[in-house]
Amino acid sequence: MKNLGQFFIALTVVLTLGALPSAAKTKVELKDAQGKSVGTAILWQQGPGVGIQINLHDLPPGEHAIHFHQNAKCEGPDFKSAGPHFNPENKKHGLENPEGHHAGDMNNFTVAAKGKVKSSLENKDVTLGEGSHSLFSNGGTAIVIHAKADDMKTDPSGNSGDRIACGVVTK
Ligand code: ZN
Repeated sequence: MKNLGQFFIALTVVLTLGALPSAAKTKVELKDAQGKSVGTAILWQQGPGVGIQINLHDLPPGEHAIHFHQNAKCEGPDFKSAGPHFNPENKKHGLENPEGHHAGDMNNFTVAAKGKVKSSLENKDVTLGEGSHSLFSNGGTAIVIHAKADDMKTDPSGNSGDRIACGVVTK
């Protein structure tokens, strides 16, 4: 049975090494309109989509929209350079829109009274791999946080107000 034991050790090593690329994480630093860091978002491949861990500070308390935008450009103070929501399928905005939604659309998150938030988010419509839904396609994308909550249906941006923080997603 010694050989069988060695076989399983070898199998474990192979499986572990095989899993490494998918465990790779991408760290995104987000900055506010004044160019000051407000923390990070960590992205990783999670099934067919992307998992996101946000760890942010110095943001206005309350509910905020967060989206992936199509350009890897964060020029303050308005962050218009990030362009519209990442939308490889040419759909309308909003997770609750019958004609939606943009691949870059996500649920709102809530900042606590002291301006901090640690939260896990998920986006099943984007990937860190290859293809048109990749956050790395066309030179990358951006994560943008808005002043207000997303109403999940108003095209093109869910009435979510000004862009208050931005971070580029590149390899
Ligand atoms: Zn959208």
